[in-house]
Amino acid sequence: MTDIAALLAPLVALRHDIHAHPELGFAEHRTARVIADALRAAGLEVHEGIGGTGVVGVLRAGNGPRKIGLRADMDALPIDEKTGLPYASRHEGCFHGCGHDGHMAMLLGAAQALAASLAADPSGIDGTVHFIFQPAEEGQGGARAMIEDGLFERFPCDRVYALHNWPALPAGTIATRAGAIMGAADKFHITLRGRGGHAAVPHDTNDTLLAAASLVQQLNTIIARNTPASANAVLSVTQIHGGHAHNVIPGEAMVAGTVRTFDPVVQDRIEQRMRQIIAGIEAGFEVSAQLDYDRYYPATINDADAAEDALIVAATVGTAQRAPEPAATSEDFSFMLQARPGAYIWLGQGVGENPPPLHNPHYDFNDAVLETGLRLHLALARHWLAPQE
Ligand SMILES: [Zn+2]
Ligand SMILES: [Zn+2]
Repeated sequence: MTDIAALLAPLVALRHDIHAHPELGFAEHRTARVIADALRAAGLEVHEGIGGTGVVGVLRAGNGPRKIGLRADMDALPIDEKTGLPYASRHEGCFHGCGHDGHMAMLLGAAQALAASLAADPSGIDGTVHFIFQPAEEGQGGARAMIEDGLFERFPCDRVYALHNWPALPAGTIATRAGAIMGAADKFHITLRGRGGHAAVPHDTNDTLLAAASLVQQLNTIIARNTPASANAVLSVTQIHGGHAHNVIPGEAMVAGTVRTFDPVVQDRIEQRMRQIIAGIEAGFEVSAQLDYDRYYPATINDADAAEDALIVAATVGTAQRAPEPAATSEDFSFMLQARPGAYIWLGQGVGENPPPLHNPHYDFNDAVLETGLRLHLALARHWLAPQE
């Protein structure tokens, strides 16, 4: 059996080194090099530069046809760290505030542990493990970039899994669910244009600000009046811009925001209602409107069998829990789950009463759960690639 305990201290050191040197999406050059070097040192076949800065490590044993993909994300966030930790970010405006440094350490540790155990006993698994390190999870679609670059043609997978640390769950708890686990994220940007003019002569203008005010109110009726109560949908208007002088009615105003959903039917309905409301605003206020509606991340939908398997496996390394509901945040592992069956899994890492949430400047990955995540990756691979009699 591999001595996992001996791997942990170097993995924590590596996690702190990556934490001190965070890199934003598609710029993870140093990070990818550190990961690739460590995978190579562990004896894996390593492929770099997939979908930009993506890295894949490959381990094979036996002749079995099964293939599993395990994913970690590599990018940091464009925010300033406020933890005051000795290994805090050395790059201003860049911070591992979502724990992707921990995700890499856990997946790398699983690769090291599996490689060592196969060197001692190659009969441990029968098939192929692809250790996938993806760029740019935070809004830029690094998973999609890897898929478009031939990820699953070059590294076929009949199951894919990803872990994300979850501060709201206690350390050691592992949770997932069949079906939707994270929301679809859409953003909208509406530009209203009309004839600007003197504020004292409004009848000679088209008031884009009054149109914007009415638009914001009407957009907020969509969730309340056009989606079922069970749909778990969110629409938030987050920006209104227009005007620069007290005596000028501006000829242009902008309204923007985000929509979060878990069901494509609901998502379609919201966009349809938005277009109808905008058409009504154009007619009612004699303005023209341009809508840019961008569905940037789809909902993260777990395969039911893959999620059930994950819960069975999770119970062998921690406390398994069926997540009662999805989270409204989003995740670009959704693109991998659209391409291959699999599941996205939350790894509890919370300590204390009110731990800092993800994307908070005081957040840090909890090194105490690194071993659980490592063992979970390892157990998922061993489960899917178990030698058949
Ligand atoms: Zn994040
Ligand atoms: Zn994240």
